[in-house]
Amino acid sequence: MEIVESTITLKLPEGSNEVLLKNLYLSCDPYMRNLMSYIEGTKDEGFPSYTPGSPLTGFGVSKVLESGHTNYEKGDLVWGFTKWEEYSLVASTSILFKIEHTDVPLSYYTGILGMPGMTAYAGFFEVASPKKGENVFVSAASGAVGQLVGQFAKLTGCYVVGSAGSKEKVDLLKNKLGFDEAFNYKEEPDLNATLKRYFPEGIDIYFENAGGKTLDAVLLNMRVHGRIPVCGMISQYNLTQPEGVTTLANLIYKRIRMEGFAVFDFYHLYPKFLEFILPHIREGKIVYVEDIAEGLENGPAALVGLYSGRNVGKQVLVVARE
Ligand code: NDP
Repeated sequence: MEIVESTITLKLPEGSNEVLLKNLYLSCDPYMRNLMSYIEGTKDEGFPSYTPGSPLTGFGVSKVLESGHTNYEKGDLVWGFTKWEEYSLVASTSILFKIEHTDVPLSYYTGILGMPGMTAYAGFFEVASPKKGENVFVSAASGAVGQLVGQFAKLTGCYVVGSAGSKEKVDLLKNKLGFDEAFNYKEEPDLNATLKRYFPEGIDIYFENAGGKTLDAVLLNMRVHGRIPVCGMISQYNLTQPEGVTTLANLIYKRIRMEGFAVFDFYHLYPKFLEFILPHIREGKIVYVEDIAEGLENGPAALVGLYSGRNVGKQVLVVARE
């Protein structure tokens, strides 16, 4: 990644139906690493690889400077697909939502009120179909998605345990985010034994963010008819040779439903999601932890930090505050 300076005209090209944006907050997301590699068999599935030499694309919160489309007006605040630049021209057909509620922090639209929030909501409520009293395990639990899944599970009346990679994160899960229990997976040499300790009666729902060794151990601890919404497998994204999972046969023995999902299939639920989550935020019933990096020049380190767990909470990059 490199920072490039260039002079641009802050004007829409004549007759353009694009939208000219001033980027305020950018979202650092694990999937961005995957777009830097070729993912076999996904060409037409909504995961287009980055083009070397072009700005990274990603989610962000922006202000509309000019619009060639009737859906947007100068001065509107929007969240959606933009580029890692100070100013961006984006197609009016790209994922772009007008921000109507500004009594909450604008940066929330990169996290709890944006793509990660929708991911947690869709993965937990739509894919996992949770029931009161069920046992839920979440990996990468203190991150942008995981911290919400845990809180959704508590709101549903579930018992929820999270794993994370440091003592600070474990304390956060137990003391601020309301998880019943949490552990540092880096200090647990035998994850199978650890999970047996926290789930003596087994796991009903495993919200999969990590993959690899965690998934291997989880499959040994699932209950009959358990569900595994497969959200991500961050432990695998930097490996040239992904790890094999050795315990998959448990899908059969325990009749487990393991289902991959992508948030972009669920954006039609966004208005319903907002209706659900905004009152919870305003009443303090759901909290959200952010990790803020300042300035585009600090973007590469913030993004790379996701893969070693440097971020505590949703990693946001501030480009401008207004
Ligand atoms: P996070 O904010 O959780 O940041 C990533 C975290 O992953 C790090 O902080 C780190 O936390 C953890 N991590 C890094 N390496 C490993 C590893 N080897 N093993 C276990 N954990 C690791 O990211 P998000 O909440 O944004 O994303 C979580 C997951 O959800 C990712 O897998 C992502 O790809 C996926 N996702 C999927 C979407 C979909 O549509 N399916 C949409 C959005 C996200 P720690 O210190 O705890 O290790």
